[in-house]
Amino acid sequence: MIHAVRGVHDILPAEAAKWARIEATARRVFEAYGYEEIRLPIFERTELFARGIGEATDIVQKEMYTFEDRAGESVTLRPEATASLLRAYIEHGFHVHRLKPVKLYTMGPMFRYERPQAGRYRQFHQLNAEALREEHAALDAEVIAMLIEFFRELDLGSRVALQINTLGDAKCRPLYRERLTEYLRAHAAGLCPECRERTDRNPLRVLDCKNPACRSVLDQAPSIHDSLCFECAQHFLDVRQYLEAMGIASEVNPRLVRGLDYYVRTTFELTTTELGAQNAVAGGGRYDGLIERLGGPPDPGIGFAIGVERVALLLADMREDDWEHRRPVAFLIPIGDEALKRLLAVARAVRTTLPIELGYGNRKLRSELERAHKMRIPWAVIVGETELAAGSAVLRDMEAGQQQQVPFPELARRLMELGGRS
Ligand code: AMP
Repeated sequence: MIHAVRGVHDILPAEAAKWARIEATARRVFEAYGYEEIRLPIFERTELFARGIGEATDIVQKEMYTFEDRAGESVTLRPEATASLLRAYIEHGFHVHRLKPVKLYTMGPMFRYERPQAGRYRQFHQLNAEALREEHAALDAEVIAMLIEFFRELDLGSRVALQINTLGDAKCRPLYRERLTEYLRAHAAGLCPECRERTDRNPLRVLDCKNPACRSVLDQAPSIHDSLCFECAQHFLDVRQYLEAMGIASEVNPRLVRGLDYYVRTTFELTTTELGAQNAVAGGGRYDGLIERLGGPPDPGIGFAIGVERVALLLADMREDDWEHRRPVAFLIPIGDEALKRLLAVARAVRTTLPIELGYGNRKLRSELERAHKMRIPWAVIVGETELAAGSAVLRDMEAGQQQQVPFPELARRLMELGGRS
C-alpha cells in the first residue's frame, strides 16, 4: 500500500466544505477592499526564491523542494507566494499600465521541508494578499484591517490577537543589526547553539527564538525602536494611529521579526493561544525594495499570508451545516433497467437546479430506503414494473411514511417544487 508523503495531507470531504467556506470568505473580504485574484504557478526558477526570500533564511537554506528538470534547469516548488506574485507583476508590466496601488490576492499550496507536527506541514496552503506601488502608512493599516475582517467574518475575531512591529529600513536597520550582533556576541554563553550560529548569519532572527533558555538574554537585547530613523519612527506611529482610528487593537512586539528577509518597516502577525507551538495563523509586512531586487522598478509593497490549515483547525469545533445545502431533495429508486432509464432522465433534469440521489436498480428496495433514511433525504421516488405500466411514480414522504402517485411527465417539476426551486 502506498501512503501519502510525510507532512502532506488529503483534505477529506467534510474538511473540504470548510475550506470552501474559508476561501469564499477570503474572496468576499479581499474583493471588498479592491483586490483582484491572480493565479500563479506552483514552481519557479530556484533563483527567484534565493533572491526574493534571501539566501540567509532557513527557508532557502534548509526547506526548499529544489530539483533539476529534464533540461537541467534548477526549479523549486514555491515555499511562499510573494516572490512569484512580484515576478508576475514585473513580467506583465503591472507597474506600467495599472493604476496604483495594485492590489492582488492569490491562494494555493506552498511547500517547505519542515519538521511536520500539528499545524505544521510540508505541503500547506496560504491565502495571500499584496498591495503594491503605495507607501502610505494608511495602506499598512488598511491591509491589517482587511486581515482582521477576514477572521471576523469567520467568527474567529475574538480568538486571534494582533501583534505589530517595525524593522526599520535600509537606512536604520544596518545600525541596529550591528548593535544587536555586538550584544549577542557578548552574551553568546547564554544562547542556544542555533542562536549562536544565527548571530552572524541572521541576527534579527535570533530574537524570534522560542527556546526558554535564551529568553533572559533576548529580553535584555537592544530594541529596534531605539534605533529607528525619523521616517521609520513616523511611519510606525502613523500605522498605529490609523489602526486606532479604525478601532483595531494591537500589541507592539519589538521581537516580531518574521522568517523572511525581505521585510522593512511594518511587520505583523495574528496569533492564537489555541494551537500550541504553531500559534501564528497569519503574518505579513512591508517589503519596499524587494520588487527592485527582483529586477523590477523601485515600487514599494506590503502583504500577508494566512495559513489555511491553521484557520481550519480553529474552525474545527464549529457545527458543520454545509451539508444541508447539498442534501439531496430525493432518492430515486428504480427497480429494473427500464425504470432506471426513466429515472436517469428525471435525475438529469432535476440536477440542473438541485442535488438528487439515484440508485441503479441493483439493490433491494428495502436497503435503498434505508440508505435514503440514513442520508436523511426527505423524499424517495420508487419506480418498478407496476409504476411503469401505470405511467406514474410512487413519491414517498420519508418522515411520515405516506405515499402518493405522480405521473411521469410531472415528476421532475414536482421534485423541484419540493426542493423549493420551481
Ligand atoms: P510565512 O509565509 O512563514 O510568513 O507564514 C504565514 C502563515 O502561513 C503562518 O502564519 C502560518 O499560519 C502558515 N504557515 C507557514 N508555514 C506553515 C507550515 N509549514 N504548515 C502550515 N502552515 C504554515
